[in-house]
Amino acid sequence: MITNSIKDHAELSEIFIKDEERVDWHDGSLWWIRQKRDKSAHQIPEWETLRETASAIKDNVISNLHQYLLQFEASALNNGVKVHWAADAEEHNAIVYSILKAKEITQMVTEECRLNEYLNERGIDVINSDLGEYIQQIDNEPPSHIVLPCIHKRKEEIGELFHEHLGTEKGLSDPTLLTRVARKHLRNVFLSRRGALTGVNFAIAETGEFVVCTNEGNADMGAHLSEVHIASMGIEKIIPERKHLGVFLRLLARSAIGQPITIYSSHFRKPREGQEMHIILVDYGRSRQLGRVDFRNSLKCIKCGGCMNTCPVYRKSGGLSYHNTISGPIGAILAPNLDMKKHADLPFASTLCGSCSNVCPVKIDIHEQLYKWRQVIVKEGYVDNTKKLSMEAMATTLSSPALYRIAGNAGRWLMKNFPFTINNKFNPWYKQRDMPGAKKQSFKTWYKNNG
Ligand code: SF4
Repeated sequence: MITNSIKDHAELSEIFIKDEERVDWHDGSLWWIRQKRDKSAHQIPEWETLRETASAIKDNVISNLHQYLLQFEASALNNGVKVHWAADAEEHNAIVYSILKAKEITQMVTEECRLNEYLNERGIDVINSDLGEYIQQIDNEPPSHIVLPCIHKRKEEIGELFHEHLGTEKGLSDPTLLTRVARKHLRNVFLSRRGALTGVNFAIAETGEFVVCTNEGNADMGAHLSEVHIASMGIEKIIPERKHLGVFLRLLARSAIGQPITIYSSHFRKPREGQEMHIILVDYGRSRQLGRVDFRNSLKCIKCGGCMNTCPVYRKSGGLSYHNTISGPIGAILAPNLDMKKHADLPFASTLCGSCSNVCPVKIDIHEQLYKWRQVIVKEGYVDNTKKLSMEAMATTLSSPALYRIAGNAGRWLMKNFPFTINNKFNPWYKQRDMPGAKKQSFKTWYKNNG
């Protein structure tokens, strides 16, 4: 387990990449998913039109968010759903707790959840029902990917966890057998819980219904068996009309794992007889992001995880190195909005190659926003002085041909005569690389003589 209390992305990545074998299969597994995404996208001739349409619908949503939210609230109330508004995570958690307390519920099942600790402290036992999230919960570790929460774990490690927590045979690591054990265990949990919390993938302003997408049917089991169903949704999850849903459903699973559609796309509109249904509309920094002109497009995200699967930095450094609930390229855009100082390192965890923007189903300009965040973070003074000063020195050198020539000559001389001044443990570039030997002459001189 990686502990990530005070370390930044580079330091946490260093822990992850120590295990070279893990890095290789993590990288390979995610690239395999990226290729599945490509195949599945290429099977649809109108793929690019779908992306354009989804992007345009979301543009409309974020430009008229207040209207759609009020329309959704009115429709949901009309359906008999109780609607709550939460400005931040604390308010959200307090609302969930007050609903459960009023019904004297002490055990709850969640489909996706970040409030376990808060509820545990108040005597409420919470079990994550998504298999990947459940594995992360029993290992006391946060998810490393928004769609594949335990993608960084080997099946043998999961087998070990199951042996410890669920009493399976030692050494059992067959994924099918382990899944059967988890299913049996979770089935009993579903049958005994009176409260269920789900997320929301899409909320339809026109009808007041919301749609939850899972591959395991866990949201349905939780919601249908419970007395109280609480759904938490970020305010950007709104879409205007039901007819828009098909555009997103066709894009979501294909972009996530190359699957034509999520196995369960369940619509929830009103509570069944005897059930209470609550929906919590959560802001938690989204209004602030909406006000940041350069970054408001990030609110179009439908959380497919596609940008993570393709990102060379994510694939090689693992999701836990981002020390944030949402990792990868989109996490690196959303996190500084919440706490710029704490997450100042994340926009730098990118090669800016643009692969993330190329796969994004709603056409978010991810790599451009990462580049813009770097500028904001430097201006706000959240970059450490060594980096700032070295970048300034680099800018001065690169903008002066004479200085560049002198620096090149000096560098080659140093590398030849005193290589340890460059090849040492204080130089982060040298840590995982073989530094080439010094060339006799610069490219410019070579070109002059041979060009
Ligand atoms: S930013 Fe785009 S690619 Fe990344 S998770 Fe969101 S929708 Fe998917």
